[in-house]
Amino acid sequence: MPVYAVANQKGGVGKTTTTRNLGTALAKRGRKVLLIDLDPQGHLTLSLGINPMTLEKHAYHVLIEEHVSISEVLIYHKGSDVGLLPTNLDLSGAEMELLADPMGNNMVLKSKLSSIRERAEYILIDCPPSLGLLTINALTAADGVLIPVQTHYLAYHGLFLLQQTIAKVKRRCHPDLRIVGIIPTLYDPRARHDQEVRAALRTNYQDSLIDLPIPRRVALADAMVAGHSIYDVDAHSDAARIYTQIAEVLDHAQTEPRLDERNGR
Ligand code: ADP
Ligand code: MG
Repeated sequence: MPVYAVANQKGGVGKTTTTRNLGTALAKRGRKVLLIDLDPQGHLTLSLGINPMTLEKHAYHVLIEEHVSISEVLIYHKGSDVGLLPTNLDLSGAEMELLADPMGNNMVLKSKLSSIRERAEYILIDCPPSLGLLTINALTAADGVLIPVQTHYLAYHGLFLLQQTIAKVKRRCHPDLRIVGIIPTLYDPRARHDQEVRAALRTNYQDSLIDLPIPRRVALADAMVAGHSIYDVDAHSDAARIYTQIAEVLDHAQTEPRLDERNGR
């Protein structure tokens, strides 16, 4: 089952919020979900109620120490229905150390994931807000990319840079990498600016747009800080409903043959 990188080099666009809540939405559909925190800030780790400072082993050790496997570091936190490969600030050092590694430094996460892939039905990787080696490792390891984009012009224009990076990874080492979906986030339907950016996404990214914008809701931010998902704090909110719908879209795409396959092409 698929590995998806949740990526965007812009910070604050809802990558971590989406990884957290989409992960739980998929788990609520009965899927075995594993989340990987690849951002040294450790916000995904925090959003699952785990203090990054108390971790003995985490993503850094998996990436840098040859003998450390993901299953040794995985946490199934009580009350949570997803597994987590946690991280903390030490991971920022991994980027430099990977750079110094002449042997396929973009492949480390991919090779570590190979032993655990079969144990999860979905693996979501929360990427840092950069296009450095951590994000490249995530893109190389992933089958597809989910791109949260704030419905704001600056975020919209940043999409181009991310597409270039994805194209480069495709050319160099991973021709099958695909964009699974662009997800509009922090959407305020009353703001003209947000409406315009959504319209631009519809026009220019119609093939990859998942046109189910995540509304801007304080409950999403509050839930993260408290170490909860939106389903724990307000399961009947529109934000929870939208994440549920996106999980359905992804799950159906897994089980239904793709359009071109159905048509015998
Ligand atoms: P990223 O991982 O891309 O940096 P985050 O998911 O951490 O982005 O979101 C950035 C900030 O915005 C966080 O404080 C988060 O709680 C808040 N946030 C994210 N999505 C929403 C939303 N839909 N409504 C309100 N606040 C949000
Ligand atoms: Mg984040």
